[in-house]
Amino acid sequence: MSSEGQFKPKMLGIICNWCCYGGADLCGVSRFQYPTYIRLIRVMCSGRVDLKHILLAFANGVDGMFVGGCHINDCHYNPEGNYDAMSMVNLCKKLLEHIGINPKRLRLEWVSAGEGIRFANIMNEFAREIEELGPLGKSEGLETAELNARIDKMAKLVPYIKLEKMEKLALHDINGDYTKLYTSEEIDGLIREAPSYWIDPDRCQACMTCARRCPADAVISAKNQVHVIDQDKCIRCGTCLAACPERFGAVTKIVGEPVPPPLPEEKRAIVRKGKEGAGESSPVAG
Ligand code: SF4
Ligand code: SF4
Repeated sequence: MSSEGQFKPKMLGIICNWCCYGGADLCGVSRFQYPTYIRLIRVMCSGRVDLKHILLAFANGVDGMFVGGCHINDCHYNPEGNYDAMSMVNLCKKLLEHIGINPKRLRLEWVSAGEGIRFANIMNEFAREIEELGPLGKSEGLETAELNARIDKMAKLVPYIKLEKMEKLALHDINGDYTKLYTSEEIDGLIREAPSYWIDPDRCQACMTCARRCPADAVISAKNQVHVIDQDKCIRCGTCLAACPERFGAVTKIVGEPVPPPLPEEKRAIVRKGKEGAGESSPVAG
């Protein structure tokens, strides 16, 4: 435990209402001790904890992150959320590893409402480990700006990663070894092949189909204006590619290359040609 002058980590636990929070409560009323710098947030189920919550915590300077739920097959919901938590945490560990953060900074445990002493033991052990690792980024050899840039980039890929890994994230396999569910190679490939989508200004006919179908409101759309994808909002679902009418074919999937810059706003107006060129149009300087 930290003594004066020693590094006191920032630690956060997100724990489920029904079991782990009960264990934390019992730990408190039984006067078992654990470091006061561990802050707890109660959620109804560990399955509620999202990849984004964990990345957000690290982006805000948390040095160690704990997720606590009910023991497997004791979850109070159906389908059981702790399987989801188990898959999500193991995926998150690989994502952390990919961006150079020690995955030991993230820990998942099951604690029942009757395991107050066990809760204290886990908290003390985890706190010691994080104290030994030191502040986030230090043991990783990463400056804060670089660390935050990497976390931010990964956070933007979360919707895409969840779509791609939907089946594994929903796996409920009592005999499964969840620590082997994702491999480093698999995650490296997933990130390397993350696509971007781009609208070719010379082909877009401003039919608005993509904008209407986009689930993330990421298509900047206006009548008779070339449509543009807001790359920060885009969740890389590919719906616009499938939705764009074949005769226009204006949406392109880009992998491993930079996305061309968006057409400046003043050049997005589409000028339709006369009858002889019906159906043809081109964006011009407005
Ligand atoms: S890929 Fe999906 S989120 Fe991105 S612009 Fe297209 S429809 Fe919207
Ligand atoms: S669906 Fe295709 S043609 Fe229509 S607005 Fe979108 S990109 Fe342009």
